[in-house]
Amino acid sequence: MRTKFKQWAVDYLGEHPEIILPKIDVESEYFKKPISLEVGSGKGDFILNFSSMHLDTNFIAIERVESVAGMMAKKLVDAKAENVLVFPFDARIAFEQLPENYVQAIYLNFVDPWPKKRHAKRRLTYKTFLQQYYRVLKSGGYLFFKSDNDGLYEFTMEEIKESKFTLVSSEPEYMFNESNDAMTEYERKFRDLGQPIHRIVLKK
Ligand code: SAH
Repeated sequence: MRTKFKQWAVDYLGEHPEIILPKIDVESEYFKKPISLEVGSGKGDFILNFSSMHLDTNFIAIERVESVAGMMAKKLVDAKAENVLVFPFDARIAFEQLPENYVQAIYLNFVDPWPKKRHAKRRLTYKTFLQQYYRVLKSGGYLFFKSDNDGLYEFTMEEIKESKFTLVSSEPEYMFNESNDAMTEYERKFRDLGQPIHRIVLKK
């Protein structure tokens, strides 16, 4: 799904500092509640709905494309979401700033598959990323991965074997459960096309 560049969304980000997390500062008020992260939030459908189901948690929605982050920011402001902030930068920056044993859950939804072998290191489940997720998660914390992409699913299962994570479940055909999950933009699109959605749950 390609998103046309939207200048209004870039401007919106600039005009709404209240919805933005400029840096991870665990001493600040926002970090007094348990923190969960979504990496690669896109236009924010998942985080908007999922956060409203978990008001005891403060969420950080990481999206590096400014105009896409701006579209998400507008949805969150319009909905008056109080427990989500947008981190409009590369996930690598968030992981540089996050302390270890800190985060209660990480959500990876339909992240870029990078199908070419020479781009494997860019996949957000490449071993170095899994190491970062493991480092920042609390003991007992979870990582949830959903994707339509067979190649990325298989690659991720291989990378997990080399990681310290415990595999809780891997479902090639995940049935959506609205009582403890939320739809993403991509998920809705692929389910409408009748494509299977894969899901992996890991525990530290
Ligand atoms: N989660 C959404 C969007 C999936 S597309 C959904 O399921 O519909 C993947 C998104 O991840 C894109 O918007 C892309 O810009 C973002 N992304 C990819 N790599 C990233 C990185 N390293 N840091 C932050 N965002 C990233």
